[in-house]
Amino acid sequence: MKHIAIIGGGVTGLTLASKQKKAGNKVKLFESENRVGGVVQSKRINGFLIDLGANTLNVRLKKTKKILEDHNAWNNCVEANKLANKRMIVRGGNIIELPHGLLSFITSPFLSIKGKIRLFFEPFIPRAKNSEQETVASFISRRLGKEALMYGANPFISGIYASKPESLNLKQAFPKLWDIEKNYRSIILGMLKLSKKKGNPNLKKPRLISYHNGMEELVENLSTSMKDEIFLSHSVQKISPSKNRWAVTCKNKSGEILKEDFDEVFSTIPSHKISSIEWNGIKEQQDIAKLSTASNYPLALVYLGFKRESVKHPLDGFGFLVPEVENLKILGTLFSSTLFPGRAPDGQVLLTTFVGGERNPELANLPESKILSLVKTELAHLLDIHGDPTFVEIKKWKNAIPLPDQGMAERKKTAENLSKMYPGLFFRGGHLEGVSLPNCLDPRSF
Ligand SMILES: Cc1cc2nc3c(=O)[nH]c(=O)nc-3n(C[C@H](O)[C@H](O)[C@H](O)COP(=O)(O)OP(=O)(O)OC[C@H]3O[C@@H](n4cnc5c(N)ncnc54)[C@H](O)[C@@H]3O)c2cc1C
Repeated sequence: MKHIAIIGGGVTGLTLASKQKKAGNKVKLFESENRVGGVVQSKRINGFLIDLGANTLNVRLKKTKKILEDHNAWNNCVEANKLANKRMIVRGGNIIELPHGLLSFITSPFLSIKGKIRLFFEPFIPRAKNSEQETVASFISRRLGKEALMYGANPFISGIYASKPESLNLKQAFPKLWDIEKNYRSIILGMLKLSKKKGNPNLKKPRLISYHNGMEELVENLSTSMKDEIFLSHSVQKISPSKNRWAVTCKNKSGEILKEDFDEVFSTIPSHKISSIEWNGIKEQQDIAKLSTASNYPLALVYLGFKRESVKHPLDGFGFLVPEVENLKILGTLFSSTLFPGRAPDGQVLLTTFVGGERNPELANLPESKILSLVKTELAHLLDIHGDPTFVEIKKWKNAIPLPDQGMAERKKTAENLSKMYPGLFFRGGHLEGVSLPNCLDPRSF
């Protein structure tokens, strides 16, 4: 039995702690805040239920479902409204629906005729020459054309990473797409072949889920079996080697300094926090500094409640995303009360709008009154809203999402090298393994 310290009680740390406990190890999880969950947080205010971080969990893989089942977080989940399959973007200043079948593909104005015809050339496009360094933008425009980049990838990347396709490394951001091109050349043909292959890791029917009490319920389920292992308000200050083991020094709520030795230490804290810990006895301090360099941008989430009759748009979908060429200030809006039940009181709706990110980082740092005003102005036009909101809340994230940028491969190599040089020391988390919740739910335990 090993004695293991996990630093950080977000989804990554909680899942890792539970994995280690199941493997028969003695685990202590140190979390600096007085709650677990990290960026996954939900709040009930005046009858509205808002998610301050992740809003949805996309369960595509069989193994993600199994992890949720193992943590009693599957039977109690709530599947998104079927309307969530209807995705929208802004084009020409108006919200339009993205196609979901052949007929709608032909009739939808999401791409020009030229842009649509260009998609059909995809199976004939050769593989990339220098694919390790290729950006998502280069991949999409090379395989699907410039218009698919502008009106497809650009808003899609902004919806997932609040970033730009030009800044993301394809292999790190979408490893499966990278693999498919490498193995099958064409993405369309490759996907068709893979869907028929035996041992497909994907569920037959992917599910987009949340919970009755918001995403925070996931965190509660992940932590119920570990009440004795979790140490809240314990901020790790220092990690140092100690006779072939690792000494972890924490400061607790009352300011006491506590020190304990462990066989293994797993850091699951975000990239931008790594340098806040003193990593004693590690000669390669430049490597620790490198792990702290994942790029991330500020993001503001603006929650607005309205009386249903104040919003003329039917809100009959997941929400909409704004391509950069549309020159709007907001990045997109989720129709939160359409997606899941219980998000707004009867007769009202809840909209969650994203501002800032890599496209406009300065907007997320504006005073709340200015952010509110720009969101209200743009939503009033796009969704035909009349009247004032009945509910307003804003959440600002200073360092929202660590990007799978061109430096990510190097950061992963650095983390692996440190683990080789310093046995028993491991680095995990979205900045190294991918930010989506399914990735965070499945961290490597060795
Ligand atoms: C606004 C937003 C929206 C998102 N939406 C989605 C979505 O809809 N779907 C999706 O799949 N993903 C989404 N994500 C991504 C996903 O939520 C995160 O990648 C994931 O929750 C990160 O979990 P984590 O455990 O790796 O890190 P974190 O949640 O950051 O947890 C790290 C923990 O470490 C603690 N910590 C830091 N320093 C110390 C220290 N010195 N000592 C002890 N503890 C420390 C922190 O307090 C924190 O609790 C979103 C992210 C954001 C920011």
